[in-house]
Amino acid sequence: MIKLSFHGAARMVPGSKYLITINEEKILIDCGLFQGARDLRQLNWEAPPFDPAELNAIILTHGHIDHIGYLPRLVKQGYSGPVYATPPTVDISILSLLDTAHLQMEDAEYRNRNKLSRHPKALPLFDTDDAQAAITHLNPVEFSRWIEIGKSFRFRYHRAGHILGAAGVEVELRDGGRKVSIYFSGDVGRYGNPLTIDPSVPPETDYLVCESTYGGRIHPAEEPSYEIANIVNDIHKNKAVLLIPAFAVGRTQQIIYLVNHLIRHKVIPPIDIHIDSPMAISATDIYVKYRSYHSLSPEDLMGDQCILNGRNVFFHRERAESKALNRLKGPAIIMSASGMMTGGRILHHLLNRLNRAETVLLLVGFMAEGTIGRKVMDGEKEIYIHKTLVQVLAKVVTMYSLSGHGDYYELLHWLEPLKKAPKTVFVTHGESSQAEAMAAHLKEERGWNCMIPNLGRTVEL
Ligand SMILES: [Zn+2]
Repeated sequence: MIKLSFHGAARMVPGSKYLITINEEKILIDCGLFQGARDLRQLNWEAPPFDPAELNAIILTHGHIDHIGYLPRLVKQGYSGPVYATPPTVDISILSLLDTAHLQMEDAEYRNRNKLSRHPKALPLFDTDDAQAAITHLNPVEFSRWIEIGKSFRFRYHRAGHILGAAGVEVELRDGGRKVSIYFSGDVGRYGNPLTIDPSVPPETDYLVCESTYGGRIHPAEEPSYEIANIVNDIHKNKAVLLIPAFAVGRTQQIIYLVNHLIRHKVIPPIDIHIDSPMAISATDIYVKYRSYHSLSPEDLMGDQCILNGRNVFFHRERAESKALNRLKGPAIIMSASGMMTGGRILHHLLNRLNRAETVLLLVGFMAEGTIGRKVMDGEKEIYIHKTLVQVLAKVVTMYSLSGHGDYYELLHWLEPLKKAPKTVFVTHGESSQAEAMAAHLKEERGWNCMIPNLGRTVEL
């Protein structure tokens, strides 16, 4: 008997965890953290709805925390098998898990020092030891290579665009004489991003698990560089600080790339970029190491002329350096995590700068329901940060053109080569409104049978 259970990213974006059960074997696709509203985050603290010790393998699609951030908890609760990921995803996961552990520990310490916790003692969800323990399970697997797990399961990776190394997972299951195939889309990126390679044509499979982050949206057609140029030119004119919530790996490099590209072509004057993160290093090394996974040229990645680094890019690891940024005068850019403003050093920058009219806050990523990021994006004028009421006087700008996810039109384009209708498309990784819109588009355009699973739902295949 083959079963598929949805233990995350079901009628929501965060928490990706899909459990495949084939007789006695159990494989988990992605191992993401829940982010956003408090009751959702609470799930990260509870025991998972399956026994981690019974899992045979974990297969990761890419290095974002909503796909990998639950790994340290799962290892701590008894998971001892391999964790497969593409080679760049292994490197990004190591950085991301350690960075998140540091941020969790900093946050817990800050809460305890300032008596901000509702609990007697604030604890990190996982610390650096937990992250280190999880990292030892990572196993790199190249794209296209079939990997057998047990007698009845094999998988291979296909390119998904999105971020460096991101993949979709094609799964083949054998139950006696019966064969079933499933394709997990992962997060499907956009076409023409120089920091990734375009998503590859999806394989024909019996079932499809398809993301729907922007299943009801069409992204603006304009080039993100025009928007960035206008914002940075304004920042220069007003000697202001541009604050961008973003994780240290992935979108941070995309923004550095765009800004440095504009400086190089003299569209904007030079500007300093500060990356404030405990693990902040030049992620350039990862892009140099994995040349075939993006389309930047070797010249783009060299020395002082490096488009992802250069003399105007500063990395701040220590907390004292992070604090010193409070006194920074514009024009300058500060990038800091977390991307959805759920914790991390970005909160301190918001406490310091959100109530200043000259600050510009640029929102470039997805903001889950219940996060401070979503509140600010929705135009709330007063928000609580660390129990302090802060007036939002800063100018808030949302840029969808920098999204790492395709809109529904791009998703339909990506699926266009498929001739055979999947038996069922499970529409996941989208809030209900987006998932429903995506399912409606798939029914209308392709006549495909769609289902939007609720959290915890199990279906028999
Ligand atoms: Zn992602």
